Formats: sequence, C-alpha cells, structure tokens
Amino acid sequence: METNEFGFNFDHSYSRLPSSLYSLVQPAKVPRPEIVIFNEPLAELLGLDPAALSSAAGAAVLSGNRVPEWALPLAQAYAGHQFGYFTMLGDGRALLLGEQIAPSGQRWDLQLKGTGPTPYSRGGDGKATMGPMLREYIISEAMHALGIPTSRSLAVVATGELVPRETLLPGAILARVAQSHIRVGTFQYAAAFAPDALQKLADYTLERHYPQLRGEADKYLALLREVIRAQAFLVSRWMLVGFVHGVMNTDNMAISGETIDYGPCAFLDTYDPATVFSSIDHHGHYAYGRQPEIAAWNLARFAEALLPLLSQEEKEAARAAEAELARFSDLYDSFYLEGMRRKLGLADAEEGDRELVQQLLDLMAKHQADFTNTFLDLTFQAFSTGTLYQTDDFARWEERWQERLARSGQSAASVQELMKRSNPAVIPRNHRVEEALRPAVQKADYGPVRTLVKVLQDPFAHSPEQREYATPPEPSGLPYRTFCGT
Ligand code: AMP
Ligand code: MG
Repeated sequence: METNEFGFNFDHSYSRLPSSLYSLVQPAKVPRPEIVIFNEPLAELLGLDPAALSSAAGAAVLSGNRVPEWALPLAQAYAGHQFGYFTMLGDGRALLLGEQIAPSGQRWDLQLKGTGPTPYSRGGDGKATMGPMLREYIISEAMHALGIPTSRSLAVVATGELVPRETLLPGAILARVAQSHIRVGTFQYAAAFAPDALQKLADYTLERHYPQLRGEADKYLALLREVIRAQAFLVSRWMLVGFVHGVMNTDNMAISGETIDYGPCAFLDTYDPATVFSSIDHHGHYAYGRQPEIAAWNLARFAEALLPLLSQEEKEAARAAEAELARFSDLYDSFYLEGMRRKLGLADAEEGDRELVQQLLDLMAKHQADFTNTFLDLTFQAFSTGTLYQTDDFARWEERWQERLARSGQSAASVQELMKRSNPAVIPRNHRVEEALRPAVQKADYGPVRTLVKVLQDPFAHSPEQREYATPPEPSGLPYRTFCGT
C-alpha cells in the first residue's frame, strides 16, 4: 500500500469477502464537482492532506468523477426490517471507495453518498441533494462533538446538476467515514440470501470490530453480546441528549455501535417521549421514548441472523441468544442512569436516583419544558424563565435534588463542573439547522452552514457566543417534520 498525493492509504478488505456481499459499481459522472464544506480536523485525523483534498483534484475524487487506480468502488448488499417489514436493500445511492488506514492504524470506510444508481437502487436514481447532505454533515459532526459514536462527515461536494425531486434541487455528494458500514441488515442479508457468506461475514466483523473476542470459545455468541452492549450504550447516549434517530430500521443499525444513516433524525426541543419528526412515521414507531425497545427488537433480528453460527442444535442456539438478549434492558438502564446522574451533578449512586430522574422528566413533560435547556438551567441554577420553575411540584423536586446533592458530598463547584461536562450548551436545533440550510440550497450560500458547524464543535464550552444558539424555536402551530431518502 502506497500513500498517494491526497494521503489516501487504502485497503479493500471488504472486497475480499464473498462476492455475494457486494457489487462493484462505477460512480456516475457529475458536471461540476465543487467542495462546499470540508472537514479539516477529520482529514488530518485520517492522515489525509486537507490542501490537496480540498482542491479541484480532490473534488474530482470525492465526487466519484475520477476513480483513481487505488480506489475500488463497491456497493454493499444488505437487507433489513423497515418499520417491521423485511426487504432486500443494499447501498442504493452510496459507494464504498476504500478503507482508509489512518496514521493511528485505525481503519475507516470512506463512503460517497449520492453517486448514482447501483444494482440495489430499486428504481431510484442513486442521487442525493444538497439540503439533506449538509444536514447529515451538520448533525453527524454535532453528534461526534457531543461524544456520541457516529459516522463522520469529511466533505460535501456540489455536483453542479439538478436532481428531480418534488422540484429540481441542487445535487450533492457526501463523503463520510465510519468504522464500517456493516449493519444488522448485512447479517440478515447473508442469513436469508447468501448463507455461505454468513460465517465469513461474522469472522470478518469480529476481526474488524471486536478482535479481542478472537480467542473466545463461543466467539459468535460473544459478538452478539458485544453488539448488544454497544447498542445499549449508543441508544442511552441518544436519549441523554434528546436525539431522535427517526428511522431505526435494522439496516440503519451499525454493528460497530456507531450512529449511522442520518435521514429524518432531529433533536427534541420540548421534552415529550412521544416525539416523532419523520413525515413517514405515522404511528410513532420510532418515537423518542421507544428507541430503547426498538433497539432491543433490532438486536433480536441480529441474533436470529446469527443463529446458525451459535450452535448446531437449533434449540440450544435460540436459548443462548435469548439469554444474551435478555441482558439488553439492564445494560441500557445502567448506561442511561449513569448518564442521567452526571446530568444532575451526581458523582455517586443511590437507590432512589431513578425516581429522582423520572420525577424530573415527568414534570418536564407536564410543563412542556425544553429538554436541553432544562438541564442547562439546573447546571447554572437559572430558574427565571419557563412555567416549570414556577410550580410547587418543581420546588419540591428541587429540594429533593438539593438534599441528594448534599448527601453526595461534592463541592458546589465540582457539581457544576460535572454538569457542564454532561449538559451541552448547544445542540443542532431544528430551526437553526433549517435556517442555515435555506441559503445553501436556495442561493449556494454556505456561510451559515459553516458557522453553525463551528458553533456545534464544542458543545460543552458554555461560551457566551453559544447562548443565542440555545434559544428554542418560537412556538408554532406546526410540528417540525423531517424527511428521509430525499
Ligand atoms: P435509507 O432511508 O437512507 O435508509 O434508505 C433505504 C434504502 O433506500 C437504501 O437501500 C438506500 O440505498 C435506498 N435509497 C434511498 N434513496 C435512494 C435513491 N435516491 N436512489 C436509490 N436508492 C435510494
Ligand atoms: Mg439506510
């Protein structure tokens, strides 16, 4: 492997898996690729040369217009349960260009999203538009800054073509990286349609993501166990920042435990467990408060796909899988509670903490309090705005909380330090994201997007400049709606 002029140091280990797991595909040519936002710190982390890559030559590579000899574009096959229904899917509008081996030795998939049709496009054009690609860039980078495992965004390239949707929209390609794009749905695909590849896929996944399990006697069961743990952790982190993924189909759940597929996701303003943003989620299937149980359901689908590897004996395989799945709920609860304690400034644990947290959440729901800002107000003991703080219920809760803090015995300063580290000053507020996207889509003015990305880069700074970005939207009669696959 040789590093080229951009610093790419690619391997193509996925292409060495059975060919039923992918298709080699050339990206579509686009008229005028132009980078509109580029992630310099990420490029450096990956061992890439930001100057070379953000040039016209870099734009040609990141748009798929030029496929250098060291790239091997492929679309990954996968299946998945979408809103509970099983379908064949696959990368219908994304291509894996290669796996970048960073200077740290870490392996990252570099994927281009919006590169035209593949055998898995099911009639779609394989294209992507500017608004959703910038939206993914903003939110995935914000998630990373919040300390949440996620795919990350390297660049958005304007393609110079108009893509027909409800209207003609400016086309774009997102260059993103992840530990891998192996999904629960990849295993479901193998189990259902390519059984000969299942064990090889599992071995590959073990080597790539959980090499410490290599020597275990029941290594596939250990894989299931670790994925359950990683997802329990991930979803707990989402819940702690009010993130609604929006489309938790099994094909959108990564085996690495990273957040992937930023379609209709959005953050809560007002706290309400029933919150749904996605325009197609009519029944609240993927509502904020349902995310842990949906994760558990998806993991059961993962376990099903793994069954043939768990034991020769069907009953024994099912029994072993069920025992692992049964642990999800406790794991999730302990990750979540540990995070909530920190949000309340508690460095130790007491029996009644769960109730203390639940009482606060119930009050927040009852009084339609803003999720992020309530925790900020608690952090800074700033109870001037909001109806919640005027209530006797809250006064009683606060008294309980103060007593609990006193028992934990930490100084006020260290309590506040912990809370500042655990409660973000800014999240990508929906109205702020929309405000930044509008000029980008309408007049190719990317300044507001770049500014928003900067503001979101250090959410725990609690700097004065962040204050205006913390303001919730003006109340409006219309709920915020998001769209996927657009
Ligand atoms: P998603 O909602 O992004 O998880 O996508 C679900 C499936 O639809 C995946 O297989 C995507 O690759 C595919 N898909 C989404 N948009 C397009 C498009 N414009 N053209 C082709 N395939 C698409
Ligand atoms: Mg998807």
